[in-house]
Amino acid sequence: MNEIEQRIAELNKLLHEYGHAYYVLDNPIVADSVYDQLLQELIALEEANPSLIYPDSPTQRVGGAVIEGFKKVTHDYPMLSLSNAFNEADIREYDRKIRQAIGDNFSYVCELKIDGLAISLKYDNGVFVQGATRGDGVIGEDITANLKTIRAVPLRLQEPITIEVRGEAYMPKKSFDKLNLLRAENGEELFANPRNAAAGSLRQLDPKIAASRQLSTFIYAIGGDGEAYGIDGHGEMLDYLEGLGLPSNKERQHCTSIDEVLSFIEKWTENRPNLAYEIDGIVIKVDRFAQQDELGYTAKSPRWAIAYKFPAEEVVTTLLDIDLTV
Ligand code: NAD
Repeated sequence: MNEIEQRIAELNKLLHEYGHAYYVLDNPIVADSVYDQLLQELIALEEANPSLIYPDSPTQRVGGAVIEGFKKVTHDYPMLSLSNAFNEADIREYDRKIRQAIGDNFSYVCELKIDGLAISLKYDNGVFVQGATRGDGVIGEDITANLKTIRAVPLRLQEPITIEVRGEAYMPKKSFDKLNLLRAENGEELFANPRNAAAGSLRQLDPKIAASRQLSTFIYAIGGDGEAYGIDGHGEMLDYLEGLGLPSNKERQHCTSIDEVLSFIEKWTENRPNLAYEIDGIVIKVDRFAQQDELGYTAKSPRWAIAYKFPAEEVVTTLLDIDLTV
């Protein structure tokens, strides 16, 4: 094996190990920034050496794995991830590519990137019938009983319609602090962050445990074709979902230029500590569905959206006793 082959093998191995700890055990062993850096290194190496892409490379699939114990749910439409941007140059480059593909006549909707886990909720004639995790993107876990314990998840919509919606379940900062305090008192292992605590809570087989964890949710999408509901764009869809009685995040903004997008990012980089929940970035989406369709999808993520990730904030000395983020 030459040096590149060796590094690719090594990165695959490390990322699988870290991904397993994170997605399956809900117990990360390295900081997200470390994981992201290694993943970006692998992406770059694979781009330069496409013949060395392993079929099970972490770049080839969406996040998690399906854990045993829950009924499996095959998603009607895959639940995808988002591609990432880490700085202003990445965002400007993304904007340039979008303009190249669809011209200048479009707008973005910027949203907070809630640091929780993706969920799907199905309503049949307005009644909540099934809730699932994203799992590997194609198959998720049926966590209906646990999701029913979340007060923000309406058990009945304002209208008797049949719809699948998607969003993020999360643990508010206060609930997280309380939970870890309690766990410390009981000599139990602490959760590394609210996202892993939320994921761990929703994958408990006993819904009483999920109920005690005080989770919440924001809904940000319709699963499938929004146009079937008479909506033409993302911003309009969020208003529509709100009208159905679903919790949508209010801190969103239409932007007609990339400079406006950058100001939105700047604003939330500063205001982030004042929120009652964790965010790990800003999601930037092309608004109109027709333009989203033109841009299409990669295997892992839509081309019409990108997630800007905030730089690493905290050091995970509690996890490994060494500073991995510098
Ligand atoms: P992601 O978190 O980077 O982004 C995609 C997800 O963002 C979506 O699936 C959705 O759940 C969520 N999201 C939140 N708000 C949204 C909004 N307004 N609109 C659309 N989507 C929104 O991707 P991922 O595949 O879920 O996970 C990768 C993350 O997991 C990275 O942050 C990575 O660092 C972390 N990770 C860490 C480790 C570790 O060992 N520390 C291991 C694996 C993964």
